[in-house]
Amino acid sequence: MPYHEFECSKCIPERKKHAVTKGLCEDLTSALPLGYLNTIPGSISERGCAYCGAKHVIGTPMKDVIHISHGPVGCTYDTWQTKRYISDNDNFQLKYTYATDMKEKNVVFGAEKMLKQNIIEAFRAFPKIKRMTIYQTCASALIGDDINAVAAEVMDEMPDVDIFVCNSPGFKGPSQSGGHHTINIAWIKDKVGQVEPEITSDYVINYVGEYNIQGDQEVMMDYFKRMGIQVLSTFTGNGSYDDLRAMHRAHLNVLECARSAEYICNELRVKYGIPRLDIDGFGFEPLSASLKKIGLFFGIGDRAQKIIDEETAKWKPELDWYKERLKGKKVCLWPGGSKLWHWAHVIHAEMGVEVVSVYTKFGHQGDMEKGIARCEGGALAIDDPNELEGVEAMLKLKPDVIFTGKRPGEVAKKIRVPYLNAHAYHNGPWKGYEGWVRFARDIYNAIYSPIHKLALVDISKDDIRTDKGFVTQRMLSDTNLSEEALSSADLRQYTGKYDSLADLRKKVYPSFERQPVEAEV
Ligand code: SF4
Repeated sequence: MPYHEFECSKCIPERKKHAVTKGLCEDLTSALPLGYLNTIPGSISERGCAYCGAKHVIGTPMKDVIHISHGPVGCTYDTWQTKRYISDNDNFQLKYTYATDMKEKNVVFGAEKMLKQNIIEAFRAFPKIKRMTIYQTCASALIGDDINAVAAEVMDEMPDVDIFVCNSPGFKGPSQSGGHHTINIAWIKDKVGQVEPEITSDYVINYVGEYNIQGDQEVMMDYFKRMGIQVLSTFTGNGSYDDLRAMHRAHLNVLECARSAEYICNELRVKYGIPRLDIDGFGFEPLSASLKKIGLFFGIGDRAQKIIDEETAKWKPELDWYKERLKGKKVCLWPGGSKLWHWAHVIHAEMGVEVVSVYTKFGHQGDMEKGIARCEGGALAIDDPNELEGVEAMLKLKPDVIFTGKRPGEVAKKIRVPYLNAHAYHNGPWKGYEGWVRFARDIYNAIYSPIHKLALVDISKDDIRTDKGFVTQRMLSDTNLSEEALSSADLRQYTGKYDSLADLRKKVYPSFERQPVEAEV
């Protein structure tokens, strides 16, 4: 059995089946780490709760909405802002967070009246915003406040507003993944079908499981618009509440993050017969294949190919510049769920880095199976690791960089391992052709930055070398490069702007002629 036992977890024997080492050419389908189970008592998990999964991951990227949590302020505060899911309406949904701030007396006497006052107060504070989501938390669920009834009462009294309620308290499922499921199902059950959209193209999609982290959605929208595709809604990054009530009129659901949003795609297929196409916006090859698939579905493959050719010619030399300098670097790929299989193979193939470990906090066994299949032999796969296991793994594997969230990332910094935020990014967007080069540049800067070495120097002893000054690219990443790579006329460093979205938001798109609609007999 390839199970890996951590020294630090020997006192929690149940943890042993949550980590495996992938043997060379080994088929791990019969020895996957256990996954998506309740956290074992004694192991301090770094998972988010089901409320966090519903609100922070899926609900709050919706841009024209007041998002209220009915519970203690701590639940809201911990799920505010950290993911940088921006929007083109001046980031309204990121600027403010709202909570009913339940206290002990509300737990004893109930908090429905307070909730109603809070809803009305929030709408009065932002009179132009007419849409709201309300999230149940552990406290409001345990005392049994009827949030749906309060929301219905307010909608009766204020006919111009619409409110969506998500009953996904923290304890509803082993991890945030339980909340993803709940909010997917609640949205299609309660809201889809309520708005009739204007159809302006022969090719109409919902873009699902995309959260516009630092502009990812806007980059992908650029490709769709260049293909003449109408995007009815995005679930949910940069998405509009009313657009998402019109999801039932799409011809195709294009699904990006299958871990968090396949549920609504499956329901849309069952209820409205809309097919689902899984795509991947990360990496030149997966993105090109995705655009081709969408093009083939609609019979506009030529439009997809034109974009692929243009973008590849423009950005591939820049990706290859970084590949030359990243080859052989070791990476721990420790995101939340689906990125471990979205990224594992393609960062190796297109950037040359070796994935020495994958982990997931809330992914299911299927995510782990796909992730393990796509990484190299010898990689350590861990389900729901605790902090001590993470440190032990880093000390053993000695990665050059880790891609993870802010909690393990801060720990990595303490032991001088560079870290990139896999959830919120550093200098994203990272989707799209240019975005993938930006990701490579962020990896390059994380690995070669001298900051971690400088952090080891005790400046009070005044023993910093002054003869070389600051260490530069030529002294670090280029020391062992071949003359061919060094003098190549085909490779070049990233040439894009720091803010790659500003021009995109001003762009004007060509209109495409539509097919004549046949008269019904
Ligand atoms: S587990 Fe419960 S109390 Fe904790 S943040 Fe989640 S909803 Fe709030």
